[in-house]
Amino acid sequence: MRELLAIDGERIVPPVRAILRAQGVPDDVETATNIIELAEQAIEMFSNLVSPVGVMYDLGVDEFAEVYQGEGLNEEMAPLEDIYRRASHLALFGVTIGEDIGRAISSLFDKNDLVLASMLDSAASRGTDNAAQELENMYVQRQKQSGSFGASDGALRFSPGYCGWHISAQRKLFDYLDPDETIISLNDSYLMSPLKSVSGVMIIGRKDIFEFDDSFPFCAECTHHSCRDRIISVMEQ
Ligand code: SF4
Repeated sequence: MRELLAIDGERIVPPVRAILRAQGVPDDVETATNIIELAEQAIEMFSNLVSPVGVMYDLGVDEFAEVYQGEGLNEEMAPLEDIYRRASHLALFGVTIGEDIGRAISSLFDKNDLVLASMLDSAASRGTDNAAQELENMYVQRQKQSGSFGASDGALRFSPGYCGWHISAQRKLFDYLDPDETIISLNDSYLMSPLKSVSGVMIIGRKDIFEFDDSFPFCAECTHHSCRDRIISVMEQ
């Protein structure tokens, strides 16, 4: 079933430290006052312009198999392929923080206000991730209320374009999620509009199904290995 979900904008506002970190400023470095003020200005703009909305579609493992397959361009082996087959619950998701922030970022770049533009861009990216996390929290909460999420269960989300799942799977994902493209649209390269959007699948299952090594052939090209922290956070749920 497809469902539109309101997301509270105030809950996804990133803190100053998250913006500075995204700008490459380490947490333990003393930061000049004017830089902190710019980050605060970016946060204020974010708060005034953000209009988050989410869409979710519950589906079964067999239906998701078709979405996962996409255009048949996935890596031969990928973590999600093994994980989704052992999931107890699955839901496709899409979330966006709206068009206005993207326009404001472009306008700042056009005016050559490069530092503030970059800060607002970081705030928007961080805020979009926060919105996706909010949606996942809602999904988990719902499963808990229905007794479908126990102490040994965890949740993790995956997006096309990452970890061996080819970005072309976006097309089938959106056939379910937003076939009329009323909230998020896809271009021919499968990129979303508004740009500050995230889509993918949320998976619930026993925590042990989410344990995998970062030794797939494509992992050699990965610069962040963020799956390590993501797996740790599942184990702590
Ligand atoms: S190492 Fe990188 S590419 Fe490989 S599974 Fe982890 S996050 Fe994905």
